[in-house]
Amino acid sequence: MKLKFKIATTVLVFLYIIVSSVSASDLDLSLFKTKKVNESLYVMTQDYGDASINFAAVVGEHSVVLITTMMKEFSPHVEGLIKKVTDKPIRHVISIDGDYYQYYGSRYFVERGATFIAHKNLIPNVFENRILVDKPYRLDVGTEKLWVIPTKAHTTDHVMVKLENSNVIFAGDALSFDWIVYSGPNGPDEHIAALDLILAQGDEETIYYPGNWTAEEFGNKADMGELMATYGLFVEKVKSLHKSGLKPTKIAESQDIHNLLKPLNDYQRLSPYTIHFVKDVLGIVDES
Ligand SMILES: [Zn+2]
Repeated sequence: MKLKFKIATTVLVFLYIIVSSVSASDLDLSLFKTKKVNESLYVMTQDYGDASINFAAVVGEHSVVLITTMMKEFSPHVEGLIKKVTDKPIRHVISIDGDYYQYYGSRYFVERGATFIAHKNLIPNVFENRILVDKPYRLDVGTEKLWVIPTKAHTTDHVMVKLENSNVIFAGDALSFDWIVYSGPNGPDEHIAALDLILAQGDEETIYYPGNWTAEEFGNKADMGELMATYGLFVEKVKSLHKSGLKPTKIAESQDIHNLLKPLNDYQRLSPYTIHFVKDVLGIVDES
């Protein structure tokens, strides 16, 4: 009996080792790509079907900062990707806003020793080890100085993340260099003011990373200018057509609007959804 028990335990332990080692090395990372920007910054992307999503790891002197945690079910993958570039532990995670991909993985990393940093309006699923901010917050990790800066773009809980040494800004869905943006509950005027703020945080050399992209993974000052010009004209046009009595569906079909959007990279894929962007400008919330 005793021997049988011993054998059974040994087999079980052995099986456990096999299973756990298989699950660790068996992670399918084919949806992910890692790009080394400099000695301390790795920008990563996840393929999400039609689009890709940006996130990043900043390797500090003693630990790692993860910017955008991605979806909960991919937390082990994100952890695995970071392990491929450094042995240092993930000690901070920053959520740019409350969008699923920005935020839902946070708990996984906090349970493993990270401190969570986000806008104070973010409805939390993280209750310990958190820093919620309503003004610019500075985090120095030795190799890099990060600034977490609240804005009124896109959601009520948005921050931009500026990396001083790398001269890089992550701004999630506040930016798109392939299409226009959703202003969300704060409205288009606040979103435009936020774009001014994001631009003013950079200089001629700054690289700006959006959340989602199809053709342009990142942009520079000129790309920011183009986004701001196109989006500004779109907002103006939608408002004036609405004022002249046109219904949102007619505005979304209008030639003026389509002439404006046609030069954008993602026109073919996203032009059928123009109506949602028209309603966003007019503050009409879609029922769904
Ligand atoms: Zn979003």
